[in-house]
Amino acid sequence: MSVNVAEVFGQDVFNEAVMKERLPEVTYKQMVKLMEEGGDVTLELADIVAKAMKEWAIEKGATHYTHIFQPYIVSIGAEKHDSFADIPKGGKIENSFSGKDLLMGEPDASSFPSGGLRATCAARGYTAWDVGSPAYVKDGILCIPTAFCAYTGESLDTKTPLLKACDAVSKAGVRFVKMFGNTEAKKVRAYVGPEQEYFIVNREKYLERPDLIYAGRTLFGAPAPKGQEMEDQYFGPLKTKIADFMADVDEQLWKLGITVKTQHNEVAPGQHEIAPIFAPADAALDSNFLVMDVLKSTATKHGLACLLHEKPFAGVNGSGKHNNWSLGTDNGVNLFKPGKEPNKNLQFLLVLACLMEAVKKHSLLLRAAASNTGNDHRLGANEAPPAIISIYMGDQLGEIVDAIVAGVPFDKLPCATVETLDLGVSTLPVLPKDPTDRNRTSPFAFTGNRFEFRMVASSVSIGDANTVMNSMMAESFNKACDALEGAEDFEKAVIDYIYKTMKENKDIVFNGNGYSDEWVEEAAKRGLPNVKSIVDAIPAYVEPSTIEMFEKLGVLSARELEARKEIKLEEYAGLINIEARTMIDMASKLYIPSVIAFVNSVASSMNTVKSAYAQADTSAQQTILVKASSLLADAQKALDELKNVTDAAETAKEYHDTVLPTMAALRAPIDELETIVDSEYWPVPTYGELMFEV
Ligand code: ADP
Ligand code: MG
Repeated sequence: MSVNVAEVFGQDVFNEAVMKERLPEVTYKQMVKLMEEGGDVTLELADIVAKAMKEWAIEKGATHYTHIFQPYIVSIGAEKHDSFADIPKGGKIENSFSGKDLLMGEPDASSFPSGGLRATCAARGYTAWDVGSPAYVKDGILCIPTAFCAYTGESLDTKTPLLKACDAVSKAGVRFVKMFGNTEAKKVRAYVGPEQEYFIVNREKYLERPDLIYAGRTLFGAPAPKGQEMEDQYFGPLKTKIADFMADVDEQLWKLGITVKTQHNEVAPGQHEIAPIFAPADAALDSNFLVMDVLKSTATKHGLACLLHEKPFAGVNGSGKHNNWSLGTDNGVNLFKPGKEPNKNLQFLLVLACLMEAVKKHSLLLRAAASNTGNDHRLGANEAPPAIISIYMGDQLGEIVDAIVAGVPFDKLPCATVETLDLGVSTLPVLPKDPTDRNRTSPFAFTGNRFEFRMVASSVSIGDANTVMNSMMAESFNKACDALEGAEDFEKAVIDYIYKTMKENKDIVFNGNGYSDEWVEEAAKRGLPNVKSIVDAIPAYVEPSTIEMFEKLGVLSARELEARKEIKLEEYAGLINIEARTMIDMASKLYIPSVIAFVNSVASSMNTVKSAYAQADTSAQQTILVKASSLLADAQKALDELKNVTDAAETAKEYHDTVLPTMAALRAPIDELETIVDSEYWPVPTYGELMFEV
């Protein structure tokens, strides 16, 4: 199968080119303006656009339309399909889709979590057309990206706050660059490139594992003889099945106008990554939802299953979503680009100072916004980023920040030069060296022209993380502008501000190994929070500093934040409850009966051998019998205990403190049994089968 990306790209999207072709010129111009600048959409305009959209979609084979929205928490977008059918007139019907259908929808929202924002009896929720995000046709459905809110107007999705945060950072950013003489800039955009990690397993094997079906991760499983220790999987050649699957995913995403660019095998066996080219944050949010959706549906089509969970398998790396993020003006200035002489680049250094301040102040909120229940298995568990938030600057910037913190005068700051990398072979080119090396252990790393926030969970929306990042930058920019606008000696005032802010927030910078024990100690000395569980991080949503920031910027109200905290806690309790009940089910109905059958067969083998030859040595059978029986008893005890604690638990904290440890106590004997029980008796596919045999 070979596809020309230039030919298929965007063919299923109602994009600017389609609008230009199909809309009256005035309407097209109005739409372009709305997409660029926002503003009120009139019903009259919506009617004209809806008509063209309907005709275009029907030509593409659509029979239904849906407002696509992203309820808070639910990982993959929600949709409710309506067909184009109208009331029959004289036995005939027309395809109907009006401006009102395009503008607004009213799904019964009672089944979505609202954190108390809406009583179940008051179910009304509204979806509103997001003009900035183009409609598309997928699987015969015209999909219209929308924002989702309650009857009272409070947001119930991940997108609305992000749109507001993007506006806030744009306003603050324009104000900021204006101080440095950039009076042309009308907008500052947040750009995001999310790298999506995922696992692929064989579908038949997947369907034999209730834990994968219900919990998205394995709740039992002894390690396979081989894991990721040889590091031979990372960037390794793709298996044919995987290559075919990826080619299919690419084609579908290109048609949907998503610029997927990079794909490769990841560190763990069975793990892969896909990344699009970066885009404005709100578009990146929508396309990341589509990427997750297409990965899942395409896997099924290919006889595979895609696991987006953060930790599908114990003992090997889990998955995250590296969130590459930058801020750029509409006249082409990337605020995170250091330029040739960062030591003299006042605007850049002030941006960096603001970033240090923002990350330090809101580190716990960042940690909470990037996390979900599954991510607790990664953060702080000696893989991927640690749970402590710090910023990695790299050598070049690190040296400059160190000098500023040490009080080296501005004109004496070290000037790092761009080095070259000579490989010493005459046929190989001399390469310009990147100004930063990579530090894979840092949760918030500078990578040359952007920051990479590595904590984001693989299965969640990137909405929360980017809402927080953009808001915290808007807050810091505004603070700097308040202090510096109209300063008599602007340059001196800026330098003083940079020095003061960097000194105050120096503790957030760490350029060493984030996985080391020394860092944990050092971070504690610096007073940086090291919160291992999301349950302890969630309250950051309602910290006074959080509420003040979001309310001032008009991004989220105190009530909305309280609701989000509630939803997250409820989700945690709900998910652990499902995991515990799945374990109870699997242990009672699969593992324990299988082990009993196995123990029985060993016992009868002993009897048979002994009756055939009384002096026969049956010590091997006996050892196995003793060991297996004792582990079986441990498992039964832990199972009973798990039933008790699960029945008793209600709050997220109880689930964390009592249910989780009991789940581990049940898993341990069963995993050990897996290593001694005859594989004929083992009731589910093993780690080796899942990770190595697609
Ligand atoms: P890595 O080598 O870190 O795995 P990838 O190529 O997988 O890098 O992904 C890097 C991501 O960062 C891509 O989505 C890329 O488009 C994005 N990116 C590049 N430059 C910027 C930028 N200035 N702002 C935001 N994202 C960016
Ligand atoms: Mg990558």
